[in-house]
Amino acid sequence: MSNFDYRTNAEVIRVDMHPDGKSARGVTYINENGEEVFQPAGIVLLCAYQFYNVRLMLLSGIGKPYDFATGEGAVGRNYSFLSNGGLTLYYKDKQFNPFATAGATGVMFNDVSPRPGFTDGVKHGFIGGAKIHSSQATGNPIGTSLPPGTPGWGAGWKKGMADWYGRSMKISITTTCMSYRSNFMDLDPTYKDRYGNPLLRVTFDWKENEKKLQQYLRDICLSLKDDLQPDIFSESFMKEDAHYDLRPYVSTHTHGGAVMGETPEQTALNKYSQSWDAHNVFVVGGHAFPQNHQSNPTSMIGGMAYLAAKGIVEQYLSNPGQLVQA
Ligand SMILES: Cc1cc2nc3c(=O)[nH]c(=O)nc-3n(C[C@H](O)[C@H](O)[C@H](O)COP(=O)(O)OP(=O)(O)OC[C@H]3O[C@@H](n4cnc5c(N)ncnc54)[C@H](O)[C@@H]3O)c2cc1C
Repeated sequence: MSNFDYRTNAEVIRVDMHPDGKSARGVTYINENGEEVFQPAGIVLLCAYQFYNVRLMLLSGIGKPYDFATGEGAVGRNYSFLSNGGLTLYYKDKQFNPFATAGATGVMFNDVSPRPGFTDGVKHGFIGGAKIHSSQATGNPIGTSLPPGTPGWGAGWKKGMADWYGRSMKISITTTCMSYRSNFMDLDPTYKDRYGNPLLRVTFDWKENEKKLQQYLRDICLSLKDDLQPDIFSESFMKEDAHYDLRPYVSTHTHGGAVMGETPEQTALNKYSQSWDAHNVFVVGGHAFPQNHQSNPTSMIGGMAYLAAKGIVEQYLSNPGQLVQA
């Protein structure tokens, strides 16, 4: 394409706004030589992943930053993650061949997902739900789960590995996570990147709703375990005194921070992923989800990208301005 130019090693550090702050005039990026380059633009698409999109909006002054104290402002609001956990079942006389794996070797059921007709949550005092799944592991020996009490290194670990490699399976949960007033993102007052720009700060902790949901799922998983009769099992569910811990891997499905909605008061984007505050800035990604719905997000993000493109091509180009009137 003669009118298409793709620049690698270009890190966008801000969207540059027109003096009235109502539309963008381009972006500034750092090129591979470390030089600052201004790129003029009629339309800016921010597609830098949920966290970085929110950070670019905050660094560029697009939208009103969320204020935890007053509850006002939309950019940074509604950050939500998801929780996981489950059981590992060990069998002395079974071999699962974990190296022979593919996506389709997994099994999942959605009976306890949030959906019309699922009322258990009301009975147990939570909203939301989860998928329960069991997938064949990737077979990597170092990452293989070993029964509780097995040493994590040395001769004991080697013996545990020889005895138990391939002899376990998991029952896993991936849960919804609600958004809360006190879970949010803002610009860090202390830490900066190498260009001197504030890093994104995430304030997040688990709440009672997610802990109740986890305990409900634990009961289901334990009853599955009883049917499956392992020799040994271990469990990992959120306890009542649990706090969010950044260190163990949970997921990359981070949501919220620049939510899509019908009015600009509490949301940052309209249904076309168009900023309510800067009409030629479209921001596509997981930040648009108001809660974490637990499902894998990328197909929906792709769908939102198509809708943004449709809005731009069919409406915006011929009549630049807000595509939705609040
Ligand atoms: C290991 C792993 C497994 C996953 N598995 C699944 C799965 O099974 N199902 C599922 O639905 N999702 C899965 N995800 C999540 C999925 O990858 C994301 O939901 C998806 O990539 C988000 O798309 P995006 O376009 O918003 O961001 P990305 O795909 O992250 O694209 C953002 C792009 O912007 C670039 N960028 C960032 N900052 C800047 C900047 N300042 N200037 C210029 N460029 C910038 C990045 O280099 C990147 O190319 C997985 C993620 C990981 C890491």
